[in-house]
Amino acid sequence: MSTPAQPLADEAAILAALREALGEAAVATDADTCAAYGLDRSTRWQADPLCVLRPQSVAQVQSIVRLARRLRFAIVPSGGRTGLAGGAVAARREVLLSLERMRKLHPVDRVERCIRVEAGAAIGQVQQAAAEAGLYYPVDWAAAGSAQVGGSLATNAGGVHVIRYGMTRDWVRGLRVVTGHGELIDCQRDLIKNNSGYDLRHLMIGSEGTLGIIVEATLALTAPPQDPGVALLALPDLPAALRVYERAREGLPLSACEFFTASALARVQQRMQLPPPFAEAAPAYLLLEWTQAEAHTDAAEALFADCFEAGTAVDGALAQSGAQAQALWRYREDISEALAPEAPYKNDVSVRAARLPEFVARIEQDLAADFPALELVCFGHLGDGNLHLNLLPRAALAPQDWAAQSAQAGALVARRLEDYAGSVSAEHGIGLLKREQLGHSRSAHEVELMRGIKAAFDPDQVLNPGKIFPVAD
Ligand SMILES: Cc1cc2nc3c(=O)[nH]c(=O)nc-3n(C[C@H](O)[C@H](O)[C@H](O)COP(=O)(O)OP(=O)(O)OC[C@H]3O[C@@H](n4cnc5c(N)ncnc54)[C@H](O)[C@@H]3O)c2cc1C
Repeated sequence: MSTPAQPLADEAAILAALREALGEAAVATDADTCAAYGLDRSTRWQADPLCVLRPQSVAQVQSIVRLARRLRFAIVPSGGRTGLAGGAVAARREVLLSLERMRKLHPVDRVERCIRVEAGAAIGQVQQAAAEAGLYYPVDWAAAGSAQVGGSLATNAGGVHVIRYGMTRDWVRGLRVVTGHGELIDCQRDLIKNNSGYDLRHLMIGSEGTLGIIVEATLALTAPPQDPGVALLALPDLPAALRVYERAREGLPLSACEFFTASALARVQQRMQLPPPFAEAAPAYLLLEWTQAEAHTDAAEALFADCFEAGTAVDGALAQSGAQAQALWRYREDISEALAPEAPYKNDVSVRAARLPEFVARIEQDLAADFPALELVCFGHLGDGNLHLNLLPRAALAPQDWAAQSAQAGALVARRLEDYAGSVSAEHGIGLLKREQLGHSRSAHEVELMRGIKAAFDPDQVLNPGKIFPVAD
């Protein structure tokens, strides 16, 4: 795969060509806009885009890509900038392409239960439109209000309901994408059945802006969950979470199974000013959500009784109202926001769910031995085997020490994942943050095939170069 070429034109010439193609108003170069749009929610890079483009039509997006090919500049597609892996970061004078002016929602198709939306619409708007039509878009996570359709598809976002509804990939009926050739393709034509050759839609989903610019999508909708029930359980240790999960699946139609440790709870309580959920602190907590609470009252009570008797739970709270359910969810959903001011090094990884507690214990041991200055704050989606390992300095560390130690600890986690046949990215993507770790989850042949796919969709390397693939590539 060829490396991104040096621009053929100087910056002034590129800006002049962009202004001529899009008009003055669509091209911003002021420092504030560049600083705000140049970063996502990862914290390790400095924004330095050449400019921020806000096109208003597919034709404009195509002309940007064609100009990029001709003048050889790099484009960073940008969504709601809530990504955590640096995928939307523009730190090397790239042209940043925001679709925020392309956010039209078509009316919900009630027959096929789907909605066609422009890529700049927020997932929160899709959820709202679905709800107004008496339907439901089930992919949900703490940043869904600001994340955009394009960004969430490009990262194949997961979230808190994956055990019941799957990931974003499972809800994409069709896609319109501008490839690195500047051509518009209509993947799957929104058809439920379309086996005419390769399904390019699934290559685009999770491609982090490296294969094409998603300009429009058709998302499937479903019936809303009825009467959700929520419980929070305090556990004697993390392995108990697996036993509670297994037991809960026997009687409850679960839609979420989320865990967090004592240090995560302490952070969220302190930052969000939440009262302690139980009289005594416990090493770990499990939040369960299921549908049709009233019909499953007996099953929920039996679960509590069995867990207390077996010693797999030491305390528990069962929500008696929607407000109580929301209050219990806050202990889990607010953790990311509570940690954000401390700028943790985020490690979003996955292993088989059954091995998750063992993996956490191993990492705790390794970090205590090799990185005593770092604290581990752990939470995640237990049912999916998805762990968010957040590293923080225990006391103030010099910036260069923190950068070096957290990166080394991240590399150690990636090496350990090989022993567990795990993945260095469960749901946040590779972006810039994990590109050196790709080889721990993918064979050399797989990476070679991925490079070939990249070259086929983006022959001149104008789409998000430097993301996903290791630097040497
Ligand atoms: C508090 C918090 C909680 C979170 N929880 C979760 C969670 O539970 N599960 C989860 O999966 N994620 C989670 N995330 C991460 C993040 O919200 C998701 O990755 C989200 O899908 C990113 O969408 P975005 O629009 O913000 O994309 P951005 O961050 O703007 O971009 C993400 C990637 O998509 C590319 N991209 C953006 N738009 C397009 C487009 N139109 N065409 C092609 N490529 C494009 C970018 O180049 C980049 O590589 C969380 C983030 C925060 C801040």
